[in-house]
Amino acid sequence: MTPTPSQHALPIPFGSRSKMASLKDQLIVNLLKEEEVPQNKIIIVGVGAVGMACAISILMKDLADEFALVDVMEDKLKGEMMDLQHGRLFLRTTKIISVKDYSVTANSKLVIITAGACQQEGGSRLNLVQSNVNIFKFIIPNVVKYSPHCKLLVVSNPVDILTYVAWNISGFPKNRVIGSGCNQDSARFHYLMGERLGVYPLSCHGWVLWRPWRLYVPVWSGVNVVGVSLMNLYPDLGTDADKEHWTEVHKQVFDSAYEVIKLKGYTPWAIGLSVAYLAESIVKNLRRVPPISTMIKGLYGIKDDVFLSMPYILGQNEISDVVKVNLIPEEEARLKKSADTLWGIQKELRF
Ligand code: NAD
Repeated sequence: MTPTPSQHALPIPFGSRSKMASLKDQLIVNLLKEEEVPQNKIIIVGVGAVGMACAISILMKDLADEFALVDVMEDKLKGEMMDLQHGRLFLRTTKIISVKDYSVTANSKLVIITAGACQQEGGSRLNLVQSNVNIFKFIIPNVVKYSPHCKLLVVSNPVDILTYVAWNISGFPKNRVIGSGCNQDSARFHYLMGERLGVYPLSCHGWVLWRPWRLYVPVWSGVNVVGVSLMNLYPDLGTDADKEHWTEVHKQVFDSAYEVIKLKGYTPWAIGLSVAYLAESIVKNLRRVPPISTMIKGLYGIKDDVFLSMPYILGQNEISDVVKVNLIPEEEARLKKSADTLWGIQKELRF
């Protein structure tokens, strides 16, 4: 006898099919009740332009098995989540969710904070910082409550001060709170230096360290290509006597961010890529040495609780070691001045 179309369907190995069985029950037989325990859950708080650039960069690197977005703007939050979910075929992250309720963020490994108010026209910097402190006073306790063992990565500006704020409110040890610091600014420096020399940015070495209020300080003494010090070849590098005007490269690191803002309104892509680079180093314990904002008290004679960018070893415990950068006296003096500037602002903050 010829089988009917339904008899051609998948065989039902366990027992006979009930009349009420759903399509899923007909297709799939459950053998084991599984509890979903994410191993690498990553949260992004703040789904503005920067938060979403971080999100897509992290998703493209397959760093998380569960990925959650948090924001106070419910429609935007849901829209961003759905947009990412619709691309899941092309990603390898098991679960992408969005939440307003922090309990859903429980057991996160890494929490990235890009939420924040933007500077108002005519508004003071201190007011901006205080607005962001107020936002952090809500976010950080909620994160800590549900993920007491997570690592915090602050991106919101002013990043050095808000990293201090996050550390202060969280009560976390200093190794578990970092800011994105000068990593992206240094990447821009590599790019601009590479353009001048005709060399791929990865083969150019040098950092822009510490940057309160975007006053980046280049460490010219450390700039090199495959270990060849540019300052040894050209002692005027970065000085007033420099006829090749290398200080322009440093100036562009600062100016070009504003140029991008002027041209398109915001600067999400480079910071998103650089945050994913940092997240990868943490999740995969790569022990890369990027310049990131970390508690610098005790180094270079600094006595206050300030966070500034230095090259730290970044791995599974977030930061474990700092590389002792040899600074020339002028650089060390600038570092101390930056620390004093930050502490002067932090003293005024109300928690
Ligand atoms: P944006 O205004 O587009 O987004 C900010 C988001 O934060 C909004 O979606 C807002 O709803 C959300 N938010 C506000 N309060 C919140 C709360 N209590 N909980 C959860 N979410 C909240 O801004 P953006 O362009 O995405 O920039 C975000 C931050 O990143 C800014 O502070 C910006 O200055 C900073 N930034 C830092 C770097 C860096 O190098 N560290 C580079 C670029 C931008």
